[in-house]
Amino acid sequence: MSDTASSSEFAPGSPPAPASRRALLRWAADALEDAGRDEPYRTAEWLLIDILDCRRLDLHLEPDARVTADAARAFGARVRRRAEGEPIQHILGYDEFYGVRLAVTPDVLIPRPETEELVERALDLLRDREAPRVLDVGTGSGCIALALATERPDARVAACDVSAEALAVARRNARRLDLDVRCFEADLFDAAFLDRVREEGGTGLDLLISNPPYIPDAEIPHLPAIVREHDPEIALRAGDDPLRFYRQLADEGREACAAGAILLVEAHAEYADDVAAVFRAAQWSDVRVEDDLAGRPRMVWGRCPPAPTP
Ligand code: GLN
Repeated sequence: MSDTASSSEFAPGSPPAPASRRALLRWAADALEDAGRDEPYRTAEWLLIDILDCRRLDLHLEPDARVTADAARAFGARVRRRAEGEPIQHILGYDEFYGVRLAVTPDVLIPRPETEELVERALDLLRDREAPRVLDVGTGSGCIALALATERPDARVAACDVSAEALAVARRNARRLDLDVRCFEADLFDAAFLDRVREEGGTGLDLLISNPPYIPDAEIPHLPAIVREHDPEIALRAGDDPLRFYRQLADEGREACAAGAILLVEAHAEYADDVAAVFRAAQWSDVRVEDDLAGRPRMVWGRCPPAPTP
């Protein structure tokens, strides 16, 4: 069994108390394993480190240190939540993405490792551009925009989302990281989208980047329970046309981008070639599909053609 299992009744009992760090970790790892959760020991460590506010190393340097009854109780409650299927990022309230700590709530997609690869690609593509202007569409937690702003302090980065709740999380993250990333509400499908982008100074872009919703309706019921039950559907569901966000990005993007700018997106492995075809049909040039580290075609990018001469 694994995290594909639905929320369950595998709730463990109470942790041993008083107990050593070692005993608590063992108890939690067993409970999480019985509940069919992935990486039970690693998860137990992560939860205990957060409660004790120590380093992983400290758990192992002093395995026999006693944990107070209050801390053990708090730990037990978190282990129970994880055993019942809640993602660790929601229990802790944060995640690490590309080396930055981001607040994560049920209003935003939990950042994925594949998206770190998208950031990596974006940084490569921006290498020779000074003070690049960047817009992240559908920013969610702000992960892409904030990682880029951290890595490229010279960049002017903006981020938008249709969800006001998600934007609140992105703004909070920008503030906490002390990054000057402009976060604004905008709907890619609204006729006024480009006006909104202009108002926020997001034109003449060097990079338009997005990890849009790309799960077709028919696949939603088959997603792992941890995704289906805990990630916001608005961040996942593409509707009955898995290409619609890409069409819109390719069309609207040309207006927002400078000639030679990059449009870079994350895509569903099964539709990456179709996304590339959409980009080509919208006159983007040098369009490429690239694999992620797992060897699946997950990134598509192209270059903005010069504006047609009137
Ligand atoms: N990669 C996410 C998943 O596997 C989907 C993200 C998206 O739709 N943009 O669930």
